[in-house]
Amino acid sequence: MKLLVTGGAGYVGSVCAAVLLEQGHDVTIVDNFSTGNREAVPEGAHLVEGNVADVAANVLSAGDFEGVLHFAARSLVGESVEIPSDYWHGNVVTTLALLDAMRENNVPSLVFSSTAATYGEPSKVPITEDMPTQPTNPYGATKLSIDFMITSFAKAYGLAATSLRYFNVAGAYGDIGENRAIETHLIPIVLQVALGHRDKIYLFGDDWNTPDGTPVRDYIHIRDLADAHVLALQANKPGVHSIYNLGSGEGYSVKQVVDMCRKVTGRDIPAEVAPRRAGDPAVLVASSDKIKSELGWKPTRTDLETIATDAWNFTRNLGDKAHSAKR
Ligand code: UDP
Repeated sequence: MKLLVTGGAGYVGSVCAAVLLEQGHDVTIVDNFSTGNREAVPEGAHLVEGNVADVAANVLSAGDFEGVLHFAARSLVGESVEIPSDYWHGNVVTTLALLDAMRENNVPSLVFSSTAATYGEPSKVPITEDMPTQPTNPYGATKLSIDFMITSFAKAYGLAATSLRYFNVAGAYGDIGENRAIETHLIPIVLQVALGHRDKIYLFGDDWNTPDGTPVRDYIHIRDLADAHVLALQANKPGVHSIYNLGSGEGYSVKQVVDMCRKVTGRDIPAEVAPRRAGDPAVLVASSDKIKSELGWKPTRTDLETIATDAWNFTRNLGDKAHSAKR
């Protein structure tokens, strides 16, 4: 298929683009490199540098695109609480421009990168797709608003669409992993501590209503996540907007993640309790039964040890490269 991948230089977008290319699709990436990396753009992809809202209409008018995978977004919970305007523009306004460009150019199919943050603080876990959506931060609110937008486009204009609500994506695929200029995510930060690039990991609160007092999350391997995008694209039906959760179904506390990273790295990882981070819910664990039964998704890297090991191999390699570049 001829596909547009927005945000294809970011962590999730670049792995999905790489997998689509491996499967023989023709992939064009749009990225403004605000958070993405040039090295992450997979070989064989066409690249258009720019903001999605500015370039989508032009890119899509140039050929017979059959689908769009939309990853480009602002995606940090804490930041979204501090600068919500950037999130409403960067996520909602941008996606509206993209959907209009798709409609004007008869691009029939969309896979949208959504998030567990659309649910907010769940009343029970695991979270199923029919549970209430009450985001606790602007990031989740923008993604939920986009879901409403997509539903209306499916209904009125026949768009074939799937939103995938990611839980905590982690791990690496080949030489693509988490490599952000400003890192806020737990596993890459813990591994930077293991490498000696940071002094310690700050645990954002140890007085949450969870078994060990630290927040519980559901970590999903990036490669399993990419497979789900391919399945969603194949299953998309005109006029239907499907929504699926994507997680491993297993919850791990922040302390358990730190312990697992100590185990796979064999290194000391000092930790210190710090205040809670704004916008964080206590527990987010997915039920992914719907995508398993409807699309036949079969995650194969669900254990935390595999996820942490793959992330560590990537991070260590990155650390070595940075070290030799300095010499
Ligand atoms: N976290 C932490 N210290 C850090 C980074 C994250 O304690 O330096 C916690 C954070 O409060 C959350 C969990 O780790 O409970 C996962 O956070 P992350 O930012 O990786 O993903 P999110 O759940 O926000 O999507």
